[in-house]
Amino acid sequence: MKSQTSETFVFALGGLGEVGKNMYAIMHEDEIIIIDAGVMFPEDDLLGIDYVLADYTFLKQNEEKIKGLFITHGHEDHIGAIPYVLNHLNIPIIYAPKVASELIKNKLEDRGVKYSNIVVIDEDMTPQFKHFKIEFFRTTHSIPDSYGISVMTPNGRVVTTGDFKFDLTPIGPMANLGKMARIGEEGVKLLMSDSTNALVPGFSTSESDVDEALSDIIRGCKGRIILATFASNIYRVIHIIETCRKNNRKVAAFGRSMINSIEIAKSCGLIKDKSVFITSDEANRMKPQNVCLLCTGSQGEPLAALSRIANGSDANITLMPDDTVIFSSSPIPGNAMSINRVINKLYLKGAEVYTTSNEADIHTSGHAKQDELKGKYTVEMK
Ligand SMILES: [Zn+2]
Repeated sequence: MKSQTSETFVFALGGLGEVGKNMYAIMHEDEIIIIDAGVMFPEDDLLGIDYVLADYTFLKQNEEKIKGLFITHGHEDHIGAIPYVLNHLNIPIIYAPKVASELIKNKLEDRGVKYSNIVVIDEDMTPQFKHFKIEFFRTTHSIPDSYGISVMTPNGRVVTTGDFKFDLTPIGPMANLGKMARIGEEGVKLLMSDSTNALVPGFSTSESDVDEALSDIIRGCKGRIILATFASNIYRVIHIIETCRKNNRKVAAFGRSMINSIEIAKSCGLIKDKSVFITSDEANRMKPQNVCLLCTGSQGEPLAALSRIANGSDANITLMPDDTVIFSSSPIPGNAMSINRVINKLYLKGAEVYTTSNEADIHTSGHAKQDELKGKYTVEMK
C-alpha cells in the first residue's frame, strides 16, 4: 500500500497458507506492530519436534521499530510462541484479551520468562502510535474473549479478523456486529481473514445447540460420565459444569490445561458456585450417577487424562463398564488415529462412547463456514 509519503508493508511471518504459527506484522517507516505469535503443531513426519515457530529474523533485524504485540485470542496457534518471541525480541508492550492474558501469564511462568507489560484490551481502547491507530472488535470463537483488530495506517485501514464464527445464539457475549459494520462503512483497504471451514457450505452449529445436545446426554446417563473437551473452550466447560450441577453431579477435573482453564474461569468471575467441584478421591467414593470426570485428551494425546484412563494407567481413576465417555470435540487434522485408538480401548472395556460422528451435535467448530464468511464480507468490505 502506498501513500504520497511512503509505503505501508503488511506481511505474514506465519499463518498464511498454513494452519498454525499465526504472526502478522505491519510496518510503516520506523514502526512495526505485530499481530499474534503462535506455534504450529508438527505433522506426523516431523518426528521429535514439539512446536514449529515462525522465523523471526526480519523482526530481529528491525527490532528497534517494534512498538507492540497485539493478540486476537488465547489459542496456542496465536499465543504459543510468545515465550520464544520474548526471549529473542524486545517487545515493549503486549495487548491481549483477558482470558488470553491469563493464559500468557501461565505460559511465561512455566517457561521462566519474566515480563510484566501485558495490557488487557477492551473494545473502548484505541492504542495509538505515530503511524498507527488500533481498534478492537469483539468476535465469537471457541475461546472466550476473541477480538478482531483494525489498524489505521497512513495508507488506509487494515483489518484482521482473528479466528471467528458468526453465532447468533452464542454462549457468552455476542460479536460486535455494529462495530464491524461501522468499520466497514468507514472503509477497509485490506481485510485479512481466513477460516479452516472456508470450503464447507452453510452455517456452523450454534454453541447453544451443542449445549442442548450435551445436556440431553448428561441428563439421560445412569452411570458415571467421563467428558473430554477442549480445555480452552471455557464457555462450554462452564456450561458442562452447570449442567452437571443441575443434574446432581459433582465434577472432578483432570489434566493440567483443564484445571488451568477452570482456575482462569474462576478468576475471571465466570464460575461462581465452587461447591460443584470434587477431588478424584471424592469422585471414587461417590455414587457413579453423581459424578462427572471432566478431562483433557479429546485428541487422543498419549499422556492426557483420558488416554491414561482408557489404558488403565491412571493412578486415580479405573474405567467401569457402566461409564459413559463423551468426546465433545472433533479431531484436529493428524490426530484421528490416536483418537480412534483411545475409543477402541474404551469400547473394549465396555464403556459407552459418544462422539460427534454418531450422535447429535456435541461439538461445533469455532471457524466460520461459507455462509458466515459471506456475512462477514458484507459487513466489513463495503
Ligand atoms: Zn483460534
